[in-house]
Amino acid sequence: GNVVFDSCGTSIFETMSRLAREVDAVNLGQGFPEGLEPKEVIEAAMRALRDGPHQYPPMLGLPDLRQAVAETARRFLGLEVDWEREVLVTSGATEALADALFGLLNAGDEVILIEPAYDSYPVIVRRAGAIPIPVRLRPPTWELPRDELKRAIGPRTKAIVINTPMNPIGKVFDDDDLRFVADLLIEHDLVAIADEVYEHLVFDGRRHNTLFAQPDVRDRVVRIGSAGKTFSVTGWKVGYVTADAKLLAPIARAHQFVTFTTPPALQAAAAFGLRLPDSYYHGLRTALEARRDVLVDGLRDIGFAVGDVGATYFAVAAASRFDPAGDDAEFCLRLTREAGVAAVPISAFYGERDVRSHIRFCFAKTRETLDEALARLARWS
Ligand code: PMP
Ligand code: GLN
Repeated sequence: GNVVFDSCGTSIFETMSRLAREVDAVNLGQGFPEGLEPKEVIEAAMRALRDGPHQYPPMLGLPDLRQAVAETARRFLGLEVDWEREVLVTSGATEALADALFGLLNAGDEVILIEPAYDSYPVIVRRAGAIPIPVRLRPPTWELPRDELKRAIGPRTKAIVINTPMNPIGKVFDDDDLRFVADLLIEHDLVAIADEVYEHLVFDGRRHNTLFAQPDVRDRVVRIGSAGKTFSVTGWKVGYVTADAKLLAPIARAHQFVTFTTPPALQAAAAFGLRLPDSYYHGLRTALEARRDVLVDGLRDIGFAVGDVGATYFAVAAASRFDPAGDDAEFCLRLTREAGVAAVPISAFYGERDVRSHIRFCFAKTRETLDEALARLARWS
């Protein structure tokens, strides 16, 4: 019909959160943390709201935050970034993704999406007039199928979106995989959109790896971060893009016509937060690791098969034992209504819904919430 935005339906996160509210379920669906907001970052936002500025900040973002983003790249990744020419502040990573795809794609370009893929990628790729080309990771290993990835690249391929640590499966791509992708970027003259919003939420001594750290592709990589994830304030919607100046320029031009700017008080607070000592980042990882253990152990006790969770807010469980019909979406609706616990079906992250065997639980919740969810699941099972 003539509906303009017909390339998507209601997002799975909205659908599950709405149902969870309706039936008073514990919401382990939509990914957001509870009770982890750092007090000093909230206070920095309050100071900035009191003292201003209140008017449009610079289009590229407050210099203070752009400097803090560059400092953080040096501190955690040993990377040199020119804050004036290589950093852009956006209203969340969601806007950063839209700016990057709108800024870099032409109609008819193809973009490789590694599935399970975050739900905004294919929608924005299509809105940019480009074509999403899926490459599927499959359970139980969720390994990168290198041959399939190679075969998916053709003469019209312009970009590849790579999300590490990866929502929804909690996977951290290793150095070998990233090197493989880096070589493809060079061989086929591609750009990578590196969605790294979970860069600091990496567990058990694992390291966050970024394509941006491979010197021979640094000028081909658009690195995206999110204060929402780094400071457990997902409602704030402060994101940042780091990229070579030539790549950043068209992204910044797109940003002018998407939001133009981001609330300055929240930018100032994010800048303050990024400069917190290493102990803050360590404490966040430790707190999330403990929550992961509570949920993963509890789910396994109930009889769910849960894989290892290396990063992010999410644990993925095989639904099979409780879902003979083999439809994860139906199963999540049933679980929400019958058990009173909301989860998200993994098929929502596949364009063809062709992996329907697994569901995602968010463990970034308080002990009380996790205990209540587990008690409900145990009673239901
Ligand atoms: N990318 C991924 C992989 C995400 O999981 C999310 C949100 N949870 C986003 C981007 C969006 O981040 P933001 O809330 O900063 O827009
Ligand atoms: N990124 C969050 C998740 O994966 C949800 C964000 C949203 O609700 N759009 O659950």
